[in-house]
Amino acid sequence: MDYPGNLFAIAAPSGAGKSSLVKALLERDSDLMLSISHTTRAPRGQELDGREYHFIDPSTFRTMIAAEQFVEWAEVHGNLYGTSKAAIADRITLGHDVVLEIDWQGALQIKRLFPNAVLIFILPTSWDELEKRLQRRGEDGDEVIARRMANAREEVSQVRHFDFVIINALFDAALADLIAIVHAQRLRYAAVRRRRPAVFAALDL
Ligand code: GDP
Ligand code: ADP
Ligand code: 5GP
Repeated sequence: MDYPGNLFAIAAPSGAGKSSLVKALLERDSDLMLSISHTTRAPRGQELDGREYHFIDPSTFRTMIAAEQFVEWAEVHGNLYGTSKAAIADRITLGHDVVLEIDWQGALQIKRLFPNAVLIFILPTSWDELEKRLQRRGEDGDEVIARRMANAREEVSQVRHFDFVIINALFDAALADLIAIVHAQRLRYAAVRRRRPAVFAALDL
């Protein structure tokens, strides 16, 4: 599939800081759009349907799978999560850059479908720090946190399949890293040529 926009798939173990970093990135970059996933998990305290996720029940999710409405989907921590075709197709064809906050299984599916997609993995500095952040966030109960910590080892072992790695020690430094990756992608030959045809024409290129 040919499309002018860039796709950035960002994965991390739960609590590594993925959502906070993506939120800060989107606030600074109005050319980026966030793909809103569908999930069968229950909304957390401040989450709104259609803003963080489209919250749906498992049978609706299954119907959407059967109707081939997902570009990718995966089971994560016992819930189903998926990126709908509707969440990304129009945007990348119009040339907008789209950010996907998805798990590693979804990111690898995206790379198979869109080989130019950029895969970014966010690592915590230690297991202790990861658990502290999950506890400090205060959104999940002890059982959910224990499950997410148990899954984190397998998730982190997938980092070698990703194009870029950000270690989220100091938040502002990690954000600068993320901004740099997005910026570099926009400076690739094909992207510059697409965005600045007048300059290429003026130089007889
Ligand atoms: P978080 O880990 O604290 O961000 O918790 P969430 O419940 O928001 O996300 C749970 C997992 O599902 C994370 O690994 C997300 O990256 C992943 N996820 C979210 N949306 C999608 C999606 O559309 N597709 C896939 N494959 N994974 C998703
Ligand atoms: P994820 O989306 O990966 O599950 P969050 O963005 O919700 O993670 O971050 C988990 C918690 O860690 C949040 O309370 C967030 O404010 C905090 N956090 C994120 N990055 C940092 C950092 N560099 N230093 C300290 N705390 C952080
Ligand atoms: P949470 O329940 O904490 O919001 O998310 C748990 C995990 O699910 C995170 O790793 C998140 O990135 C992942 N996730 C969220 N949406 C999707 C999605 O659409 N597809 C996939 N594959 N994973 C997702």
